Amino acid sequence: MELDALYQEVILDHYKHPQHKGLVPTYDAQVHHVNPSCGDETTLNISLDNGSIKSISWDGVGCSISQASVSIMSDLMIGKSVKDAEVILNSFVDLMQSKGLKSGDPQILEDGVSMAGVSKFPARIKCALLGWMAYKDAVLSASSK
Ligand code: ZN
Repeated sequence: MELDALYQEVILDHYKHPQHKGLVPTYDAQVHHVNPSCGDETTLNISLDNGSIKSISWDGVGCSISQASVSIMSDLMIGKSVKDAEVILNSFVDLMQSKGLKSGDPQILEDGVSMAGVSKFPARIKCALLGWMAYKDAVLSASSK
């Protein structure tokens, strides 16, 4: 199977079976982010516990890339320390800014590497980053409490 086709399958799988979708009622911070150029939206709840990410839940609408990316992000971040999560976040942002030149480190990004091809399409990068920027905002807000 072609790598691109495999990646598309990973993205579609997260889109059809989103992880951690459905907002939990208790949280330390809630954010709402939109990507007006595509119509993607996500609301994200986060809870921290002793410097680690205890839970992330989200709800949203939008294109398959945006929704799959939030699913992949939440799956990766839950249970990690905020410090480790920052490494993952920076790695994903770096991948999205690579203009198709990087393939991503699967040790760090796991399913996130399936988004590598998106970096070739400037109009879609915001779709892929929506959930990650929501995470960044939410963790900052939760940490300052
Ligand atoms: Zn989109």
